[in-house]
Amino acid sequence: MAAIAPVQPRMLINGKLVEASDGKTFPIYNPATLQVSAHVPEASAEDTNAAVAAAKAAFPAWSAMGGAKRAVYLKKLAALLRENKDELARLDSISMGIPVATHHYALTAAAHFDHYSEAWATVQGQASVNTPGLVTMTLRQPYGVVALIIPWNAPVHFLGSKAAPALITGNTVVLKSSEKAPLAVARIAELVVEAGFPPGVFNIISGHGVPSGQILSRHMDVRALSFTGSSRTGKLIQEEAARTNLKKVILELGGKSPALVFEDADLEKAAEQTQFSIQVNSGQVCMANSRIYVQKTIAPRFIETFKTKFAAARAGNPLDKETNHGPQADEIQYRNVLKYIEEGKKSGGTLALGGNGKLETTNGYFIEPTVFLDTPETARITKEEVFGPVVIINTFDTEAEAIAKANDTEFGLYAAVYTRDVNRAMRVAKALESGYVAINCTSPLTGVDLPFGGYKSSGQGREGWLHSMDNFLETKSIIMQIDGE
Ligand code: NAD
Repeated sequence: MAAIAPVQPRMLINGKLVEASDGKTFPIYNPATLQVSAHVPEASAEDTNAAVAAAKAAFPAWSAMGGAKRAVYLKKLAALLRENKDELARLDSISMGIPVATHHYALTAAAHFDHYSEAWATVQGQASVNTPGLVTMTLRQPYGVVALIIPWNAPVHFLGSKAAPALITGNTVVLKSSEKAPLAVARIAELVVEAGFPPGVFNIISGHGVPSGQILSRHMDVRALSFTGSSRTGKLIQEEAARTNLKKVILELGGKSPALVFEDADLEKAAEQTQFSIQVNSGQVCMANSRIYVQKTIAPRFIETFKTKFAAARAGNPLDKETNHGPQADEIQYRNVLKYIEEGKKSGGTLALGGNGKLETTNGYFIEPTVFLDTPETARITKEEVFGPVVIINTFDTEAEAIAKANDTEFGLYAAVYTRDVNRAMRVAKALESGYVAINCTSPLTGVDLPFGGYKSSGQGREGWLHSMDNFLETKSIIMQIDGE
């Protein structure tokens, strides 16, 4: 493994880069080598409250400054993210194992800061004279202090997609990174200082769900909270918000996304794209197509092509440019995926590829690309999010059967359908219970200006270029009576 420069992550509270107030840290291990990559500050209750207090104090001046001036800071940060993209990729890689060759998140985060730095003038209310004697209007105004809690699978991306719209609309921010991938985010804390943001506007803390995430969820001064992570944690956050100040909560949660492959599909393309969807980031993608339903007539041919392509994933040192298959993020994720594989074997499904962890041979948390065939629809591995390179391939006879199987889940984040019949494509797209439907393509592909979010237990609310600012804006109605009418 290549030599790694020492990393000294700190938190950003009220404009200062700090250790935890009680000096507490937690170790981050490189999941490819099991060596310690860094010791990271664990935000205490005191630190979390200090970050919220700093954001609250900074809010009046930041919200009064106007979008054009706020945009200057966002633009500077976008440029710094681009300049430091290789380092940010390396830091994510040595904390959660993503191959640097597939890490494009500094660029997507920068694109968000750039986009929103131009978007402020589109924040508009409405006006009318429809009520006799009144002029009416609405104002769109920031909430105040906004908390952002992000996951580990693409931390730099989520920092950009959440913080940029929250900040440009005049809110101040406390962002908590994931305990599994805090290193790139801590480096961005330094870039926030370099970009010159006024103290308290953008605070970044690191730590576990408890205490810091939980404190943000129940904090009376946090008025909105945007969360991306598991459905389990999303529910806990919603509960805390309901018990305290009913803060607005936006939830982007887990998935068990189906891809339906009909007999008239471009088989080669369907196999290539569906295997990439479940292979990229070692299957640790919320919208990965972890269930594939293939029409029986073409199943043998599809499965052989799929397996050949999936098995060709290049596992290795994630810092190596040739690697496209890294380890699972940490030991917990690794053991969890192996547990699902063992259950899958017992559930009546047929293991057709992989199924092994590689810890013993490579000294890292690697899991082979794994395929199960004909797994019962009721098995846990078919129903629950595995978050690994593990796919269920089942078959169907009719369109109605395919739709019923695809929808038989508590999740509804992303679904794909492969067919050359345009009428069938639209019938199926309408029938799928999913916030996103791809026709003749699959995740992680998304349309740049579309809303993203889940049906059912995959979340509530939508994010996206044209949608995320709404998540951070209150609407105020004003009426003014006109005398003499
Ligand atoms: P997670 O829920 O374990 O953790 C996410 C974040 O929540 C972390 O920062 C964690 O520290 C924090 N947290 C944990 N307990 C908390 C609590 N009690 N109160 C407040 N915060 C708490 O999720 P994860 O393992 O980091 O991420 C993987 C999950 O995220 C998967 O389910 C995946 O599908 C989902 N995800 C969804 C999307 C989407 O856009 N819908 C995108 C990426 C990931």
